[in-house]
Amino acid sequence: MENKMNRRGFFAAMGKFMGLAAVAPAVLGGVFSNQANAQEKRRSAGPGASAVAGSMVDVNDPIAKAVKYVEDFQKSPASKGNKCATCGFYAKKEMHGATEVGTCTIFAGKLVNANGFCASWNKKA
Ligand code: SF4
Repeated sequence: MENKMNRRGFFAAMGKFMGLAAVAPAVLGGVFSNQANAQEKRRSAGPGASAVAGSMVDVNDPIAKAVKYVEDFQKSPASKGNKCATCGFYAKKEMHGATEVGTCTIFAGKLVNANGFCASWNKKA
């Protein structure tokens, strides 16, 4: 009788193990796949993209005010048609919907609008 119980217990345990063995690769594959995707995103961001860049520059930020940063160059007569996308300090990073954004040397760790402009605009070489 005890042998029968042990056998039953053994098969129950094997059933659980086999179930786990069948599920584990799918779960672990998902984890590793997500890690690989995150690494690929970091790589494709390019050398000009900072790992900490993420949030947009606030136009009310003291530095933004000091350099008269605007998110739309057309709202600044001083731009004379120039914008971040043509500035030497700008590096394209990603799209936010239909809006291109990128890093700017002046605003470390932040993103500027490609159509933005500030008084430090410098023609891209
Ligand atoms: S320095 Fe250039 S890229 Fe940066 S905010 Fe000013 S115009 Fe835009």
